[in-house]
Amino acid sequence: MTHPKILLVDDAAATRDFIANNVLAPEGYEVITAASGTEGLQRVRDHHPDLIISDYLMPDITGLDFLQSLKQEGFNTPFILITAEGSEMIAVRALRLGVRDYLMKPFDIDELLNSIQNLLKDSLRLTLHDIFDQVNSIILITDDKNRLLFYNQAACLHLNIPPQTQVGTPIKEVIKVPDFAAVFEQNPPENTRWEVALENGRIFNAELAIREGIGRIVVMQDITHLKELDRLKSEFVTTVSRDLRSPLTTILGYLDLMGKGGSLNMQQQTYMQHIIFSVKSITALLSDLLDLSKIEAGYDINLEPTSMEMIVRYALEAQRTELENKKQAIKTDLGVNLPQIRGNPIRLKQMAINLLQNAIKYTPEGGEIEVRLYADQQVVVFEVQDNGMGISVEDQPHIWDKFYRADAAVERYSGTGLGLSIVKSIVDTHKGRVWVKSAPGEGSCFTVMLESINGTGS
Ligand code: ADP
Repeated sequence: MTHPKILLVDDAAATRDFIANNVLAPEGYEVITAASGTEGLQRVRDHHPDLIISDYLMPDITGLDFLQSLKQEGFNTPFILITAEGSEMIAVRALRLGVRDYLMKPFDIDELLNSIQNLLKDSLRLTLHDIFDQVNSIILITDDKNRLLFYNQAACLHLNIPPQTQVGTPIKEVIKVPDFAAVFEQNPPENTRWEVALENGRIFNAELAIREGIGRIVVMQDITHLKELDRLKSEFVTTVSRDLRSPLTTILGYLDLMGKGGSLNMQQQTYMQHIIFSVKSITALLSDLLDLSKIEAGYDINLEPTSMEMIVRYALEAQRTELENKKQAIKTDLGVNLPQIRGNPIRLKQMAINLLQNAIKYTPEGGEIEVRLYADQQVVVFEVQDNGMGISVEDQPHIWDKFYRADAAVERYSGTGLGLSIVKSIVDTHKGRVWVKSAPGEGSCFTVMLESINGTGS
């Protein structure tokens, strides 16, 4: 409502003009006027005002008869009645008809303006409340101390918020869904996105925004059907990748034999190198795809007490040549005596390498990369930060999807778009969390949070 529309109904032309031109218009309201109740009724039908101010005593029908006709026609517009007589009968009838405010003549201009503002605010709040209750997404607002300020119907239904929960109740007393509580209680930063699996099998994608003066806003969308589609797609991809690997191995085998034959000229040998390079790229892509399906299916999750420090050191060592080639400075802070986690060392190393490879790839020569490892309460946190090209807010939710590559990345760097899907799947199978904070042109920071053995109590 940028310029709320107010209908002013009064038979006294002088009062009408004064209020319209000297009180309402200067405040930025769009004003429509009528000189009688009957005329007012027609104006409401034609213009659907946001608020009505009406005099009580008018020659044709009274302000309250006018309001009664409006109700009969189904209009529930906020209504302010102005009257010169303070009769109890009028007051009682006005109340019954739902008059939202009642001003006695002569009234103060500020009194009228305050009343208008309050009613417009209330009606906006009511409408927003109604709209939020109609949407299927979960909407939840807390203050900065994680106390509940607002929740819609969908939140009650899916997060089992007990009926009549009071505003101001700490959220941890109300919402017991583990996936939700685990992340929310860590006070995650702005734009954190995570998945929440509910007991009834539905999966929601949660997104957190922080607004000063309001608090923490969480919007959660049901992505169960997308997850199912993803599963079907993975099944298809696994089958195709497996079937393609055998003929590719045969092609590589014969190419090798041809090379050993010795009868190829220089040009033929160059062509053959190109073919070998291409076949190897396809094989690498298929390996990534098969890895992904294995991780997603949870086949190779062999969890053992693992030191993340060792994993990260191996990963750094594996990337040393790339770092040197791009003359990038690397800063490491790998903590001391960090607790172990339960994990699959091979997969965790793959996860760390993928994040490091991306940091190196998407950061220009001479850039800086920082790798941190620390323990926080019951978790071990691994962070890879770069000062490279960064990722736009629009791209951030999608980078975890298979084959997704930001346009800005496609233009400048090669890749399959599978690295982060693998990272996410590995972190998911370890029941951890991964998220990114990034700004285009400034860099990215990927954070992985894994529960420590102390945390699991095992
Ligand atoms: P790939 O690197 O092969 O494209 P990934 O799945 O590893 O695939 O990453 C997906 C996309 O996320 C990349 O194409 C790029 O747009 C973006 N991205 C990942 N890591 C970074 C980073 N450190 N800096 C900037 N963009 C990144």
